[in-house]
Amino acid sequence: LAELFATDPLITADEREIRDAVAAFGRSKLRPHVAEWFEDGSLPVTELAAELGELGVLGMHLDGYGCAGMSATTYGLVCTELEAVDSGLRSFVSVQGSLAMFAIHEFGSEEQKQQWLPDMAAGKAIGCFGLTEPDFGSNPAGMRTTAKRDGDDWVLSGTKMWITNGSVADVAVVWARTDLGEGSRGVRGFVVPTATPGFSAPEIKHKLSLRASVTSELVLEEVRLPGTAMLPGVEGLRGPLSCLNEARFGIVFGAVGAARDCLETAIDYAGERDVFDKALSGYQLTQAKIADMALEWGKGTLLALHLGRLKDAGTLRPEQVSLGKLNNVREAIKIARECRTILGANGITLEYPIIRHANNLESVLTYEGTSEMHQLMIGKALTGHDAFR
Ligand code: FAD
Repeated sequence: LAELFATDPLITADEREIRDAVAAFGRSKLRPHVAEWFEDGSLPVTELAAELGELGVLGMHLDGYGCAGMSATTYGLVCTELEAVDSGLRSFVSVQGSLAMFAIHEFGSEEQKQQWLPDMAAGKAIGCFGLTEPDFGSNPAGMRTTAKRDGDDWVLSGTKMWITNGSVADVAVVWARTDLGEGSRGVRGFVVPTATPGFSAPEIKHKLSLRASVTSELVLEEVRLPGTAMLPGVEGLRGPLSCLNEARFGIVFGAVGAARDCLETAIDYAGERDVFDKALSGYQLTQAKIADMALEWGKGTLLALHLGRLKDAGTLRPEQVSLGKLNNVREAIKIARECRTILGANGITLEYPIIRHANNLESVLTYEGTSEMHQLMIGKALTGHDAFR
């Protein structure tokens, strides 16, 4: 596929080297176990975090504090290779690096950065990011979680929902409403050690998507924190939204990884499977499917690389990230479903990665801004009309 679209010459030798190292790590350490993790609905998070930390991919696009300081494009290519294994693994790295670490790196005090970032980069401390609430997902401005002043302390109360890494996190970045500003200007971020009394994170079970990823509720019952727990560098929803923009960028690249894995699996399968006395891949209907899917994969990959270069040049705008997230996830899920048909009944088992990717991509379509939210963002950029409400 990469050869057909001649995408490799678009990336530097250094970028290729890191990409290939992560792909090799995926082949040896992740792929042999991922179907079992998915089936069991469990992930050996502590060991994985340490290994990913050693590989240098946690917060790899951030500078200093033990982070590798790589380009955005390199980070994107790493997301592609991780999501080619499983969206759950890319989610782990996205949440750790682009949501929790980015929030502290961008908006934290020097003390908060020193305390958390080196350990998070090494995978010794796991982070989560609590924005969504049971009643407010697409519209976080409605959030009900509060942070109230009590002397010098802050006291946090409320519930967050669907939080990746929640039950395994050492630190949670929690967004809450304070009385520091009017309306959503009062939203502030807090760095919450999860061992603080009043904090609990029951795991959400019975998911049929992203099973190789921990998803939790965060329950904050009068969690008392020192005055220094607030992220001083940002007020209002700009804080969480700029973190989400970082993580979405990784998804633009990640989704084409999942699509590629499905496509490669289907092409191999079609070559080996005989139907009506010859290989399935020799039929025009199959080739039409494969050609159309490859086109979408190629277009998505080129779009990701283009957005990566814009980000590295410092000119990438949020609505451009929306273009990539909307297109690449939507096409990846279509590719996964179409590839599934090529495998026939075998396509529904965990023997092959396709149904796992297809199910995972249902979550990816919804989190980090649903497809509809990205359509609205693109629509607003093109028409000037805000159609969110
Ligand atoms: P809703 O906002 O209720 O939306 C339901 C439907 O209505 C969607 O189709 C939506 O597009 C549509 N809709 C909403 N508003 C409009 C409108 N104005 N016009 C037209 N259609 C509209 N959140 C975190 O904070 N941290 C995490 O780590 C995290 N991890 C997640 C992991 C998983 C596996 C999943 C599934 C979710 C995770 N989320 C996380 C939550 C995720 O970001 C939200 O689910 C998402 O923002 C959508 O919110 P919702 O589920 O409440 O859907």
